[in-house]
Amino acid sequence: MNTSRYLDDLRANLLSPREGDWNRAECIAAIQWEIRMSPHFLLHSYCDLPAEAVVDQSFIDALEQMHVELTAFLSLSAHTKRERISLETTFTCFILQTNASRQFGEILSPNVLFYVMNPTIGSLHSEFHMGRFRHELAHLLWGQAYGEAPPLFMEGLAEYAGYRGVADELTVPVMATLTEVPPLTDIVLADDYWKHGEWSDRYRASGAWVQYLVERWGWEKLKALFLLTEYADTQIRDHFAQVYAQELETVEADWRDGVMMTS
Ligand SMILES: [Zn+2]
Repeated sequence: MNTSRYLDDLRANLLSPREGDWNRAECIAAIQWEIRMSPHFLLHSYCDLPAEAVVDQSFIDALEQMHVELTAFLSLSAHTKRERISLETTFTCFILQTNASRQFGEILSPNVLFYVMNPTIGSLHSEFHMGRFRHELAHLLWGQAYGEAPPLFMEGLAEYAGYRGVADELTVPVMATLTEVPPLTDIVLADDYWKHGEWSDRYRASGAWVQYLVERWGWEKLKALFLLTEYADTQIRDHFAQVYAQELETVEADWRDGVMMTS
């Protein structure tokens, strides 16, 4: 199999609005990855551009440091079996650097991340990509322990962690566009709404929402919600009410009021 053919397929596919149909398994098998390993990461990297060497020891060290910070931020400990498994998991990452028009991270299985980036737009160590890696690693760490939830909560959790809960990065920018966010009950399950389109602001709104939940009720309720629900959970409103003892609409109204009072 010819590596460049798969890269051509991938690049061509990235021009379409969704990362959809490229053959992940064949592409990954065809590439000659450079491999590095650390306690929590098995890293595969490949760069088909004449860029500086990319995934070096300092990058692995940065990921390990991120793991420590996220473990604390997400309030994970080794007290429960699930959290112990999450903290001991070695995550497999594929980092593909190519002349792509879109840059994205995709979780292929609960402990595998595939990340496509264009190093001519921003270097691996830039705050942009480190923020993205923090977002994806939050999905992996939290997901090992607590599983999935509808997109609003799932992306919100990763965004909240990705921005380390900094209000200036979450609530403050969301204030300006809050009226454009439809009622959460309409979009809680809408994968397309959160993942495509003007996604940066939308992701941020989901992050501000989870920030509100955690700062008001703490991590334990959010953990309980994730354990009770799943990605395409049509009963999410019931499950939310069961955990938070309030209707989603009521809490959403409080959240919107709270965002508008941010200064
Ligand atoms: Zn995400």
